[in-house]
Amino acid sequence: MDFLTKAYTPGPYVRDVDMVIIHCTRGGNPDPWKELQGTLDYMLDRRNEVSSHYVVDTEGSVIYVVEENNIAWHAGYSNPHSIGIELVQAFLGADFPRRQIVGLASLLASIAHRRWEYAGLNPWTHRGPLALPTWLIGHDATTQGARWGKTDPGPNFPWAALLFYVAYFGRVWGTSPLEGQS
Ligand SMILES: [Zn+2]
Repeated sequence: MDFLTKAYTPGPYVRDVDMVIIHCTRGGNPDPWKELQGTLDYMLDRRNEVSSHYVVDTEGSVIYVVEENNIAWHAGYSNPHSIGIELVQAFLGADFPRRQIVGLASLLASIAHRRWEYAGLNPWTHRGPLALPTWLIGHDATTQGARWGKTDPGPNFPWAALLFYVAYFGRVWGTSPLEGQS
């Protein structure tokens, strides 16, 4: 498979990944298609030294930008042990459509299944007041993001809805907290 950008550090680093970091594009363009185009164009130019493994647009489509076994450039010193996902969101506080959250959730469940369930690890252990899976974090909650004053995905991000859909897709993929409940 061809990937979009040369803006990455070659892997492999499969075993080192312990975090999936959620970002927002915040390019300021109210047209979601232009916001997506602007994000991809920016990542395509290696001189900008910015990339993520995936971008999820407001329709829930997943765009593959950097192969997972390579290191994307999205979170400073967290890069070597994380997968980066950018959500198209033009500006802080803009709504995250449900279909975008569903698209993100299916991607997250796939990553959890491939990386942690296959390795015999339980991807459903959780932490904190939001009960996020231990491997899932917003950029604003990482030590790197906090140090740099990052606000993505921000206070209006629907974590509870996301976790519901992740658990649902986890049941489709294999085991999840919803297993046996139908
Ligand atoms: Zn970010």
